[in-house]
Amino acid sequence: MSSRTSKKGISTVGSSPFDSWITNDEELTSLLRQEWDRQTSTLQLIASENFASPAVMAATGSILTNKYAEGYPGRRYYGGNQVVDEVEDLARRRLTALFGADHANVQPHSGANANVAVYQALLEAGDTILAMRLDQGGHLTHGSPASMTSKIWNFVSYGVTPRCDDPSTPGELIDFDNVRELALRHRPKLIVAGATAYARRIDPAPFREIADEVGAMLMFDSAHVAGLIAGGSHPNPVPYADVVTFTTHKTLRGPRGGAILCREEYAKKIDSAVFPGQQGGPLEHAIAAKAVAFKEAAQPSFSQYTDQVVKNSIAFAHALAREGFRIVSGATENHMVLVDLREFDAELTGKVAQEALDRAGITTNRNTIPDDPRSAFITSGLRVGTAAETTAGLREDEFATVASLMATALRERDDDAALERVRNEVASLCGAFNPYVTFTK
Ligand SMILES: *Cc1c(COP(=O)(O)O)cnc(C)c1O
Repeated sequence: MSSRTSKKGISTVGSSPFDSWITNDEELTSLLRQEWDRQTSTLQLIASENFASPAVMAATGSILTNKYAEGYPGRRYYGGNQVVDEVEDLARRRLTALFGADHANVQPHSGANANVAVYQALLEAGDTILAMRLDQGGHLTHGSPASMTSKIWNFVSYGVTPRCDDPSTPGELIDFDNVRELALRHRPKLIVAGATAYARRIDPAPFREIADEVGAMLMFDSAHVAGLIAGGSHPNPVPYADVVTFTTHKTLRGPRGGAILCREEYAKKIDSAVFPGQQGGPLEHAIAAKAVAFKEAAQPSFSQYTDQVVKNSIAFAHALAREGFRIVSGATENHMVLVDLREFDAELTGKVAQEALDRAGITTNRNTIPDDPRSAFITSGLRVGTAAETTAGLREDEFATVASLMATALRERDDDAALERVRNEVASLCGAFNPYVTFTK
């Protein structure tokens, strides 16, 4: 049975995890109900989001939330950790098996914490890190002036090649000549591969080659694509990188959190950088949920899921291009599509597009595109992703429909009635593809 939203906005959902979220706190229950309705009656196209399984959410809400467990399995500061030790060991074993890594740390509270812990473990303050430019797809923790990372370490940034509209020689791809040239000139101690707004496959091999050439260590930040790697849809950086960091809640579809994989030689340093270096007590309920997600990601059905995510994203990009949008780098090879809005409508900014789409029930985020003439707050781009709605069951045909709904909403963004019509179409599509009905099938 699918979710139906009545006029009062009260959902009448068949089998869903919603029932277990009803608390004795009326105000909060009402907010949870509203968020359930939002997530299941509007389209979730934010590339870093997903729908976690009921099992992941059950573990997140489990009794493990009560336990203090500073330290690591077998080496805790408080008593009573016999069971918790087994939970954390289970998560670590499942994770090292999933990626074929020597060592795993499953305690980072987030992807950002995982990255900072690695810098702290491997570097001294003031050391040089070569990472991707923020305005071309890098993450805040790759040296943004707004991030503490830029105050402690010295960042040098590589970028993408210039735009080229000839599809046989695509531009806006990681510029490996630039990476090598900067590496030779600045001799970084660490090179960071990985991005937050980049729709192409990131090949770890050329990064390893350059790192070896200059004697640098290599960290692969696979925050976005960890699920695609686990599912076998993207190359595994573990054989190439000294350290791999990621989030567990993006394409990997687990609870919110981070994790670190590393070679045995760095295990001790990484563990002490996470705790006591950076964090206090680990979130063992989140670690239990990570264990659930790692098991789910090892199933053949997860590979089918990640393959479908990529197929959907390719179909989505084609359909958006047919509607007149320019696709940054001309294509996608992962779960996201970076859209340049200027060819669709020179006046349309990312900020206005995001707001109009919100009113039409389509959740996206504005994003800078390479050489964006507008500020990071306004932008000329939009980032959309297929990970969440693929979990809900959408396939290529539905993503083509979504592209045309987006184009209609943006063309008619000043017409309230038109936006309302799109919103109704979106709601009926979402009614037919409720993730929590799909999970139970
Ligand atoms: C999302 C992301 C992070 C940070 O993850 P949080 O859990 O939000 O802290 C780090 N690096 C990259 C490349 C990301 O995309």
